[in-house]
Amino acid sequence: ASSTLDSISCRARIVAHNPHVNAFVHVSPPPSASSTTSALAEKSIAIKESICTKDMPTGCASAMLHDFRPPYDATVVRLLREAGADIIGKTNCDEFGMGSMNTHTIHGPVINPFGTSAHYSSSPLTSNAHSNPPERSAGGSSGGSAAAVAAGMCYAALGTDTGGSTRLPASYCGVVGLKPSYGLLSRWGVVSFADSLDCVGVLARRVCDVRTVFDALNVYDPRDPTAALPEIRAMARDTSRRRVNEIDWAGGRLDGLRIGVPQEYFPSEMAAAVIAPVQRVLAALKARGAQVVPVGMPSTLYTLSAYYVLASAEASSCLARFDGVQYGTHVRPPVGTDLSTSGVGKLYAESRSAGFGREVQKRILLGTYALSAGAFDNYFLQAQRVRELVKRDFRKVFMMQDYRQEVDFDVEAGHSDGSGAGVDVLLHPSAIQGPPLVKEKGLGGVAGYVQDVLTVPASLAGVAALSVPMAAGDAGPVGVSVVGQWGAEELVLAVGQVIE
Ligand code: GLN
Repeated sequence: ASSTLDSISCRARIVAHNPHVNAFVHVSPPPSASSTTSALAEKSIAIKESICTKDMPTGCASAMLHDFRPPYDATVVRLLREAGADIIGKTNCDEFGMGSMNTHTIHGPVINPFGTSAHYSSSPLTSNAHSNPPERSAGGSSGGSAAAVAAGMCYAALGTDTGGSTRLPASYCGVVGLKPSYGLLSRWGVVSFADSLDCVGVLARRVCDVRTVFDALNVYDPRDPTAALPEIRAMARDTSRRRVNEIDWAGGRLDGLRIGVPQEYFPSEMAAAVIAPVQRVLAALKARGAQVVPVGMPSTLYTLSAYYVLASAEASSCLARFDGVQYGTHVRPPVGTDLSTSGVGKLYAESRSAGFGREVQKRILLGTYALSAGAFDNYFLQAQRVRELVKRDFRKVFMMQDYRQEVDFDVEAGHSDGSGAGVDVLLHPSAIQGPPLVKEKGLGGVAGYVQDVLTVPASLAGVAALSVPMAAGDAGPVGVSVVGQWGAEELVLAVGQVIE
């Protein structure tokens, strides 16, 4: 289906539907026909506004960077261009990636195309266009990227995922979203939100298309100091590939495949509409010979709180560079202010108050507090401890080793003595609900953070996670997540492909 969308028809759909969907904030002129035959030749790919693109706006949906046009491409964008892709434009998002509904943006909210006339008819999930549908959120923070894919405005899109920002909008819009293992895709040229969590994410309508884009980007980049080293990537990839080759994916039987279902991922707040599709998928996998085993992830309960402390603490540091002098919107303090004394602080304060939106200011305050001398032990340190426990939960359940780690003798991985669960992947709902209404009451502030409860564990652990669109009722689409060990993308994508 995606082959019918060339760069011209994608642009035509943007003209027709973007005024309502509001996914794109910038569209590039169509490329001249090229003769490359690479996998991405002439495929139109949209880029989140927080990823640098030469001569295209990269404003992070913020007044702070509203006129920023980088003179260079991020590594991931350069790789796409080298593979022949058409960089079709820049997509709307939550400011600096902070949000779950794509409503914290200077460009105005993104409207979920699902159930509207903008929804692309060849998507895997069909929707009946209602004449006057309620405006549903596309999810955030990469809502523009997910909506652009769902509306057939591009072949694929890049987002970022710090705590779920690729998987949540994918789930809400009915498309596929991959958060790769931390450190696989280069962050060079990607504007930081929280450095130890930020990943570039890939969105497309089909798992095979996500795989094609991921493969083009999955190369070591020496310019990213947090990039995983080539030897480690190779070990994880080879182990994961060996495991893929042991299972008879094409033959219809999945004997030997072990799927874990984390018992803590079904909180009481979860909508019934979200549970049924997971049960259906699990039953189908079992019928084909896969083993489905319940697993315990006891730290899940504390993960969301730890995430918001850590992400905000890192954000307060990552965003310190936007001072209105070196970077960002510059607002002059009142005439007559003595800049040699406290006036400099006034200059920063004026610029940062004018440049950052409310949600970003809230995170900076929260993060600065968590790092302050009096609060450090109770908040930041405590959250770091939780992060270690979360990582340990994942290491315990997976059969595959975590190649980033020295061997940890306290943790019995499933493959060593059978005491662990020894699963290939975990399977769980991507979100606790379908897409909320854009104007939904009660989802402002902290209540909105609960939407991320099922996506943040894989972020804290840095492991591979894929959301696959599953079913859609009247309340919109829901996704199922497939989560694998660090570097197990081939396995995760193989499972994604059999369940889509
Ligand atoms: N919704 C989460 C937050 O606001 C995650 C965002 C993200 O992954 N960029 O922090």
